[in-house]
Amino acid sequence: MTNIDSGFNLENTYITLPEFFYSKIKTQAISDPMITILNEKLAKDLGLEVNYLKSKDGIDILAGNKIPENSTAIAQAYSGHQFGHFTMLGDGRALLIGEHIRPNGERFDIQLKGSGKTPYSRGGDGRAALGPMLREYIISEAMYHLGIPTARSLAVVKTEDKIYRGKQINAAVLTRVAKSHIRVGTFEYAAKYGNSEDTKTLADYTIKRHYPNLMLKENPYIELLRQVTNTQAKLIAKWQLVGFIHGVMNTDNMSIAGETIDYGPCAYIDVYNPETKFSSIDHQGRYAFGNQPKIGLWNLSRFAETILPLLDSNTDKAIKIAKDVLGDFGNHYESNYYSGMARKLGLFRYKSSYKDLIDTLLDSMTKHKVDYTNFFLGLTYSENFELEFYKTKDFKDWEREYTLRLKTQEQTDEQSKELMKKSNPLLIPRNYLVEEALESAVENNDISKLNELLQGLKNPYEISMVDKKFMKIPQARSIPYKTYCGT
Ligand code: AMP
Ligand code: MG
Repeated sequence: MTNIDSGFNLENTYITLPEFFYSKIKTQAISDPMITILNEKLAKDLGLEVNYLKSKDGIDILAGNKIPENSTAIAQAYSGHQFGHFTMLGDGRALLIGEHIRPNGERFDIQLKGSGKTPYSRGGDGRAALGPMLREYIISEAMYHLGIPTARSLAVVKTEDKIYRGKQINAAVLTRVAKSHIRVGTFEYAAKYGNSEDTKTLADYTIKRHYPNLMLKENPYIELLRQVTNTQAKLIAKWQLVGFIHGVMNTDNMSIAGETIDYGPCAYIDVYNPETKFSSIDHQGRYAFGNQPKIGLWNLSRFAETILPLLDSNTDKAIKIAKDVLGDFGNHYESNYYSGMARKLGLFRYKSSYKDLIDTLLDSMTKHKVDYTNFFLGLTYSENFELEFYKTKDFKDWEREYTLRLKTQEQTDEQSKELMKKSNPLLIPRNYLVEEALESAVENNDISKLNELLQGLKNPYEISMVDKKFMKIPQARSIPYKTYCGT
């Protein structure tokens, strides 16, 4: 043992649930783990000791070679609808090493991904490859700095141990930090395979952990459904506003705490088109960009089904309650989305009449294949971003309407521009930037590009902080960009 204090302050409240919900796991060592990247700022914010994490003991914990003292490592059981089909899943290559209590009292799951086999691994090897783990690190950290609720990434450690993914490649372990990993799929698991009490036990645990103010409500479960519905509506609206495609919105990848979790084949759109999908396995476009709100509601409906008996003992009444609550998803989503869009356009108080203005713009952007991010940058910082689209009749017609709206609000043009600057990111992890950074890290063992990109992504709304070279629109590709599940 080193004598540096680790800063870990771990509890394991999840194991107070019946054993049906998890399996205790022993470590499965990887050889000679080395830190590829460590999020020192996040470590400090969590009250963790950076020097400890860099020490042999610290690296052993980040590699899953050792469990912190007095903690119990578990893999969580869950099911899920994958592409619409129900399946038994569970953490097949993840290990929850505990819930860390930050100095301010907040609780976070510390979970290792790629840490070895578990009883839920099915045919998988329990491992993860370096590239996809670094990819998750980049994209989740970008999401955080864009102001979008997300699981975060604390570290990636790699090993010379090889895994097979079409060829031999280096394995790695990612440490993720999230409010929890309770998923819609966790509830589906309880409802499908548990006894009559298990769903209630899970719901009570979830309410206590994430929505404690609901404990005093007459029926906390109805309020739980409402809260989860609202937080998901808000979350998905935020995804749409920055052009993020999750890529695999299976119910097991939807967090009850309302964070973006389980980054797999996710990516950001460049050209605006609601039909955009990047995932190599999403043949039908189920999880295409424009479908995300609809799928969010579909997933929430699966959640509601699991807690129906808790909503009312009379099934008909319970269904009516669930329908009423879920019926609000659309309004919540739309008000979050359109008011966010209005802010991107420098319009302050959202009015329903803006909806047409926004929809017309998005239709034109689709028709003219306009880069989503840079379009808004052009409006915000006109002198720096020239797009062919601005010369079209479609744009000019739209701009006349838009200017009228700007003029009828009481705020000045300067105030409007300030609002736009805060609402339009200069840098998102564009696919080509991510690929370049990963290629040098994985193929050439050089993480300078990765660090440079991560540095830019830390201040995506600050023009003085983002290198202009990152704002380039990528060359049109002859082969569509493809992403793969975190392999
Ligand atoms: P995901 O697509 O990341 O949500 O994963 C779906 C399920 O497959 C989860 O239960 C994962 O734990 C499991 N899984 C993915 N890759 C592996 C692997 N290499 N070994 C074992 N389980 C895996
Ligand atoms: Mg998953």
